[in-house]
Amino acid sequence: MTQQKPTIGVLALQGAVELHRPHVEACGAEFRTVKTPAQFEAVDGFILPGGESTTMLKLIERFDLWDVLAEQFAKKPVWGICAGSILMAEKVENPSQKSFGLLPITVQRNGYGRQIDSHHTLIERYEVSLIRAPVITAVDDSAEVLARHEDTPVWVKRGPYMASTFHPELTQDFPSPMHRAFVDLVAESA
Ligand code: GLN
Repeated sequence: MTQQKPTIGVLALQGAVELHRPHVEACGAEFRTVKTPAQFEAVDGFILPGGESTTMLKLIERFDLWDVLAEQFAKKPVWGICAGSILMAEKVENPSQKSFGLLPITVQRNGYGRQIDSHHTLIERYEVSLIRAPVITAVDDSAEVLARHEDTPVWVKRGPYMASTFHPELTQDFPSPMHRAFVDLVAESA
């Protein structure tokens, strides 16, 4: 581990993986795609990308990665985006499904409606996209809400874990404030 140049691993089973590269590199960090235990071991923090949480869960089970990921997440920062935030939640609804429970939040999958309801918005004056996003319906007091959209928490953090229900990586203005925040978090804990 290098303090000046943390290595960020994006879980590359499914979803929006490569789009994170320019953001991570613009923060001065190293970008890696990771999908094997040896690759997990070699990074300082994880991004769980947006995509389809059910598909990710199936692949995690198929490749028998649940326990090794849980072990890694217990010792390194993790940022879950959209589907990734669903994997991090303590409780998932609509329907309920397995999750790593890293953040004391309840999420309702596809809570903003169908694909057609996906939209852009500004968070911290930065354009982000909500794409079939979950709605965070409960946040424990021990977690910090970093941003809200129409009164609903969309960016939450506790200790080394953060989740955003929006995608900042689609915007080509590098790096996003969220990537900056996460790389700083990883650098602090490395
Ligand atoms: N609707 C997806 C899910 O439930 C998340 C969508 C996304 O990651 N953009 O997993």
